Order: sequence, then structure tokens, then C-alpha cells
Amino acid sequence: MPEKYDLAVIGGGSGGLACAQRAAEYGARAVVIESGRLGGTCVNMGCVPKRVMWNAAELAAGLEDAVEYGFSLEVRGLDFATLKAKRDAFVERLNGIYARNLEKRNVPLIRGRARFTAAHDLAIGDQVITAHRIVIATGGRPQRAALPGGELCIDSDGFFDLTDLPERTLVAGSGYVAVELAGILASLGSKVMLAIRHDRVLRSFDSMLSDGATQGLRDVGVEIVAGARAASLARRDGAIELTLVDGRVLPPVDCMLWAAGREPIVDGLGLERAGVVLDESGFVKVDEFQQTSAAHVFAIGDVTGRLPLTPVAIAAGRRLADRLYGGMADRRLDYQNVPTVVFSHPPIGTVGLTEAAARAHYGDASVRTYTADFVPMYFALTTRKPRARMKLVVEGPEERIVGLHVIGEGADEMLQGFAVAVKMGARKRDFDDTVAIHPTSAEEFVTMR
Ligand code: FAD
Ligand code: NDP
Repeated sequence: MPEKYDLAVIGGGSGGLACAQRAAEYGARAVVIESGRLGGTCVNMGCVPKRVMWNAAELAAGLEDAVEYGFSLEVRGLDFATLKAKRDAFVERLNGIYARNLEKRNVPLIRGRARFTAAHDLAIGDQVITAHRIVIATGGRPQRAALPGGELCIDSDGFFDLTDLPERTLVAGSGYVAVELAGILASLGSKVMLAIRHDRVLRSFDSMLSDGATQGLRDVGVEIVAGARAASLARRDGAIELTLVDGRVLPPVDCMLWAAGREPIVDGLGLERAGVVLDESGFVKVDEFQQTSAAHVFAIGDVTGRLPLTPVAIAAGRRLADRLYGGMADRRLDYQNVPTVVFSHPPIGTVGLTEAAARAHYGDASVRTYTADFVPMYFALTTRKPRARMKLVVEGPEERIVGLHVIGEGADEMLQGFAVAVKMGARKRDFDDTVAIHPTSAEEFVTMR
């Protein structure tokens, strides 16, 4: 007889773990099935190791700043192997913590790849389990470089396997991953080129952020190759060369990092056996309650293609468990006003509508912006002068804040509190009524005129 559960969660990443644990807290008999390392993308090859590398990159710049503040330092370079070993050890500790968290809540973990064999049945190797409800939380993976020589590229997973800092790196892509990893590599001392299809990175962000991030990359030494559509890659004399569609051949590099987006992991799941359908982009189609086309199957996180961020996957998973097992019939995730940070140099924080989206939605006459553009005081004594830029997008006579955007030192830590205010429907005058904290960059948000 197959083992019976109330809830089987496929995928022990951010969303899956959160959902199973919350369901178990309500008394549901939940199980997690994980084919890889516990914690999923975020813990093993995403947010966590990335943030460690970003911290190292920020420190590299900080060391130079320290000299300009008067410290006498002898820096003998970065021991990349030590950085990687300590980072990997940290991630391993987290893997252990995640396993213990499941144990504490009596949620069994089945190691292996799950696939549907019938509407309520899952096979993991030879083991078969049956569950009243099933959650698909299988996440995503980097898209492969589909061009001749594409196998010469590494992707973001491969970035975390690097044991040495490449001397010369070419990054292709212009989203979160490309911007973050190009900035980290350059800050740590690699000579980095970034091949982008258009003229700026992060095109879906507010133009102030997109322009600021593009400039920020140049400031840390990244050479941006605009209008670059990759045609083929070849290895020559031990180096890698990218040829573009327009015939340009970029200078040879030691490492080529392909970072042009991610795709959902749905292959081999046997979704058709449960009646689960995909949308036109290949993501699992869900309604506002995370329910798929099968009434007993739900999907959360990156596999649904909606705001692929860790806290979004977690929030969707917890709310789903609240609704299914916690008696909260209407509980669901509101995907509006989700804050997000890009760990660029300097970092970006953004919540709500871009100026362009607000104008398109409310009309030009109803939208107004307030901006600030300055060099943060930290850089008063340094040669480098990265600017901070901030923007409030307000709507209507009440001047409700519908977008808040910042690029500058500290933006990563600044955003969370402001996101609460935006989510609560704050108006410009609420910001004006808040006394500033001086001297900080954040105070500019409450002193804009
Ligand atoms: P995942 O965390 O990917 O978990 C899915 C799990 O399912 C995986 O462990 C996988 O092995 C398992 N699985 C797949 N198929 C099966 C199967 N058939 N059977 C069993 N198990 C299966 N987000 C942020 O919010 N902040 C950041 O700073 C950030 N940085 C990032 C940096 C990088 C380089 C990348 C790639 C992503 C980053 N993200 C960040 C995004 C974040 O990692 C994802 O949004 C998040 O991990 C999604 O969680 P999830 O639960 O949907 O999927
Ligand atoms: P993104 O969707 O952010 O960006 C991919 C970009 O690459 C596209 O927007 C496109 O930009 C460009 N692109 C697409 N195809 C090609 C191609 N063939 N050649 C060159 N460029 C191409 O994907 P990422 O993989 O960077 O990140 C995936 C998601 O993971 C993010 O959306 C984010 O939600 C999450 N993430 C979050 C992080 C964080 O919270 N800090 C960090 C990392 C990832 P264009 O049209 O301008 O060419």
C-alpha cells in the first residue's frame, strides 16, 4: 500500500518548504520530495551564495575607500578559494538547518525526483505515495545558451562552482542575474564585458534605475557591449570568442557566463496524469489562489512564473497552507507592491509602478514624480563618487505613492520599511510629516519637494 499523506509538496526550495511546514503546523500530514539540495535555488545557487559574493565585492571597494579615509592597509589580493570554501560551508550549514526544521515539524523528506503516476499518486524511484492534495514547487533553472558553441558557457549555477576568479569574463544578458554577477566579478577584479541586446540593462525597471544600473556597471569597470545579439561561440587558443549576429567578434575571454533568463522545471513530472496544464510560456497555470487546472493540485514559486523571488514563493506557500489547513478561506498572496532589490553596485530597491507604468495606467495629468540625485556622504572623502538617485511616483490629488525607486548605497536595507508604507497606501504628505533621520541617504525620501 502506498504511504498516504494529506499534502505532498514536490520541491524542497523556498516555496515548498514554507508551504509544507505551515501545513504541518496546522496538523496536516505533509511530506516534501526533493531531488537536489534542500533549500532549492535560493540557498544553494541563488540569493544566499550570491549575497556572500556581493558582500565580498562591496568589501573590495570598501578597502580602497578605507585608504582614502586614512587607513594604512596592505591588501595582498583575494584568496578566492578561501571565499568559496567559507561560502560553501555556510550553505551546507543552512542545508542542515533546513533538514532539522522539517524534522522538528515531523515533515518527512523523500529524496528523489517525483512524478505523477495518477491524479493523487506520485512515484519517487520505486516508492509510490498518495496524497489528498499536491503542491508543485519545482522552481526553475537557467536557460541554456541555444547557439552553436553554447556548451562553452557557464550559467549562474556554474558561477557558484568557480574555484578561481576568471581573468577575463564575458556575461550575456541584462536582467537581475547578469547585472549582479557582472558587477560582482568586476568588483572582485575580473575584466568583464557585458553583452546586452539593447542599450541598457534592467529595461523593465523604472528608467532612472535602468540608467543608473547601466552607469553603475561602467563605474565598477564593466565594459558594456550594446546591441549585441549572440550568434556563436568558439574556443580559440584556449580562450572563448563570441561572434555576434552583426558579424562583430568580441575579444577573447576565459569564461563566458550566459544569463539570459530562467525557465520552469516541469519536464518529467507527468503533469498530464493529474490534469495540470501549462500556460503559453510553459509555466504551471494557476489562479489567484495558486490552484492549477486540477482542483487538488496547486503550484507556487518560480514554476508559476509570477515574480520569481524567494519571499514571493514563501509567502504564496504559507498563504496556501493557511487557506487549505488554517481555516482562512480567502487567504492568498497579493502580487501588487512586492518590493525587490537588485544587488548591483550600488544596489537598487524598487516597489510599485515605474513612472512609465503609472502614466500609462492613471494618465499623465494624474501622475507626478519627486526625485533626488546626490552623492551620499560616505563618498565625501573618496575619489569614487557613485550617485544615489531616488524617485517617488505619486497619483491623484491625494498624491498616493504608487511607486518608490532608489539606486544608491544602502538601498537594499532602505526599501523594506518604505515598502510597508507604500503597501499601506501612504501619501506624499505622510512622508512629509515624518521627521527625517540625519545624516542618511534615506532621509531624502521624506524631504523631497
Ligand atoms: P526553488 O528554490 O528553485 O526550489 C525548487 C526545488 O524543487 C529545487 O530544490 C529542485 O531541486 C526541486 N525539484 C525540481 N523538480 C523536482 C522533482 N520532480 N522532484 C523533486 N524535487 C524537484 N530571489 C530573491 O528574492 N532575492 C535574491 O537575492 C535572489 N537572488 C537570486 C540569485 C540567483 C543567481 C538566482 C538564480 C535566483 C535568485 N533569486 C533571488 C530567485 C530565488 O532563488 C527564487 O525565486 C526562489 O528560489 C524560488 O523558490 P521556489 O521554491 O519556487 O523554487
Ligand atoms: P531576467 O528575466 O531578470 O532577465 C533576463 C533578460 O535577459 C531579459 O529580460 C532580456 O533582456 C535578456 N535576454 C533574454 N534573452 C536573451 C538573449 N537571447 N540574449 C541576450 N539577452 C537576452 O532573468 P534572470 O535570469 O536574470 O533572473 C530571473 C529571475 O530571478 C529574475 O526575474 C528575478 O525575479 C530572480 N532573481 C532575483 C534576484 C534578486 O532578487 N536580487 C537576483 C537574481 C535573480 P533584454 O530584453 O533587455 O535583452
